[in-house]
Formats: sequence, structure tokens, C-alpha cells
Amino acid sequence: MDIKDQLASAPDAERIRSSRLVDGVATIVADASGFGEGERNALERRLKAAARELPEVREVRVALTATKTGPRLIAVGSGKGGVGKSTLATNLAVALARMGKRVGIIDADIYGPSQPRLLGTSEKPEARNKQLIPVEAHGIRLLSVGQLVSEGHALAWRGPMASGALTQLVEGDWADRELVIVDLPPGTGDVQLSLIQKARPAGAVVVSTPQDLSLIDATRAIDLFRKTSVPIVGLIENMAGYQCPHCGRESDPFGSGGAEAAAAELGIAFLGRLPLSVSLREASDAGQPPAAGDGPAGRAFAELAAKLLAALETQAA
Ligand code: ADP
Repeated sequence: MDIKDQLASAPDAERIRSSRLVDGVATIVADASGFGEGERNALERRLKAAARELPEVREVRVALTATKTGPRLIAVGSGKGGVGKSTLATNLAVALARMGKRVGIIDADIYGPSQPRLLGTSEKPEARNKQLIPVEAHGIRLLSVGQLVSEGHALAWRGPMASGALTQLVEGDWADRELVIVDLPPGTGDVQLSLIQKARPAGAVVVSTPQDLSLIDATRAIDLFRKTSVPIVGLIENMAGYQCPHCGRESDPFGSGGAEAAAAELGIAFLGRLPLSVSLREASDAGQPPAAGDGPAGRAFAELAAKLLAALETQAA
């Protein structure tokens, strides 16, 4: 008997490829692509616990498969736009590359692809055997929705058009990369859901600003990742505090510590905060990722990237 329907509300339903019940023995085959040893064990435990809850089940056997090898994909998401998700995604990617990692970035933001501008490149990717070859910039490789259409046109995409383009980006030639950051479209709708199902990230970073409303949005993003069983690596608070460029005094227009407290409440790691900074925005607008430099922002991103790597390693173990 197929027990797919009975397991539909299990926390890892997304990963179940087949599930059968014969003579009280439930056999579940699930996809553990992108997972390290620790994550695989945890997935197996959760699946067993979920199946044991079902009537008539005396024994549960779990087989994990991994169809996808290659880089670990890390999704960067936010509940809404304008919180600095893309800026953080670029700079984390550049900072990780400076730490010696082979890094790629997929700019999947169909509503406003900004990675080509943030990385100062207008190069278009070539295709080989129908596979897109990422372009190189600031030591990382990039594929962006913005490379596939002229500026302003991506906004008009809906449904199948958008998901077709996003599939091309995810299925680009990432073979030699260790880590690929996926800059998700802001929000938590169907486009995000189907992209996560397609890309199957090994982890997710959620970006939020200190305002209450944005934290409510972040909670939605966290829910989306939990629903799709993507482990959340941590929360980053952006635009936290403001340093006056004239007098140097720091202030907290939206209060401080909110995101860290929210992360603790939600049971996810807090990776750090980044202040609102005019020079960061100017450098970003000019296609010079601050993480490539050695100024205060460069150091801040190096620290965030180190925290992210450490959290990823803990998670994988
Ligand atoms: P999102 O991807 O969430 O829509 P972006 O990364 O495009 O957001 O950032 C929105 C705007 O805010 C951009 O102009 C960007 O340069 C600016 N920005 C992002 N983070 C900061 C920061 N810490 N300080 C100042 N400006 C920032």
C-alpha cells in the first residue's frame, strides 16, 4: 500500500520519493541530496518518527538516495524585498571566495536581478551543450536572470517563463564549485517554492532588517524553508544601526537586538549584523563589492562568511 498521503504532512514530505507499507513494514525512499552525514542521520530519524506515528506500522525502513552531487547550494532568502538580501548574497560569496572556497552565485531574483550590477559585469554567459557557463567576476562565478533578458524585462515574467529560466540557471555548469549561493526572489510564494524544490539547497540564510515588520516577514521565509525541509543555517540582520558619516556617532533608529532575540526565539542561529552604511551602498552601486576590499565592510563580511562556514560545517557533521 502506498502511504504517500499519510506522510504528506510529515516535516520532510518534500524529500520522500516513495513510501510503501507491506505487512506492517513501512519502506521509505528519500532524497538526501546535498546533505552531509549529520543531516542524513537527522533526516532518517525524522522520517522514522513520522512513519511510526501511522496506524499499522510496526517497523520502518529508510533508504536515502542522493541524485545530485556537486556543489552545496546555499539559499539566501528574505520575506520581502529591499532588506539587502542581494547585497549580502554577493558579498558573502566574495568573502567565501577570499577564504579559498570555489564559489558560485545564482541570481534568481526574477523581479529585480541585481547581481550583474553588484559584481560590475555585463558579460553574457555562453552555452555549451545547452548548458550555461557561468561568467567570472571578483573571484566567483555568476549566472543571473539579468543576463538572460534586457534590463526591466524580467519583471513581466510569470509562471512557466520564470521557472524555465530559473531551471537553466540552476542547471548551469557548476561542477567545479564547492558552494553556490542562490539569491532567491524576495517573498515566499510559488516561484520561491518551486525554485527551492528544483535547486534543493543544503542550507538557507535568512536576511532581515531590525524593523518589526521585516522580522514578521523573515518568519515567513523561515516557515518556507522549514516547510521544504531546507535546514536554516542562520539569520543575518542587515541595516542594523547607523553610523553618521559626518560625526561617526552610531545610532539605532529601529532599536537594537531585535533580530538576535527573534532568532533565539525561533531556535535558529544568529550569524551577525551589518550596519547601514553609505559607503557600502555606494561601492555596491559602483559594482565594487565591499567584501573584496579591506575596509570595515570587508572585515564585517569576512566575519560573517567565517560564521556561515562554521555553521555549515557543524550542520554537515
Ligand atoms: P534586496 O535584495 O533585499 O531587495 P538589495 O540588496 O537590492 O535588497 O538592497 C536594497 C538597497 O539597499 C540597495 O540600494 C543596497 O545598496 C542598499 N543596502 C543594502 N544593504 C545596505 C547597508 N547595510 N547599508 C546601506 N545600504 C544598503
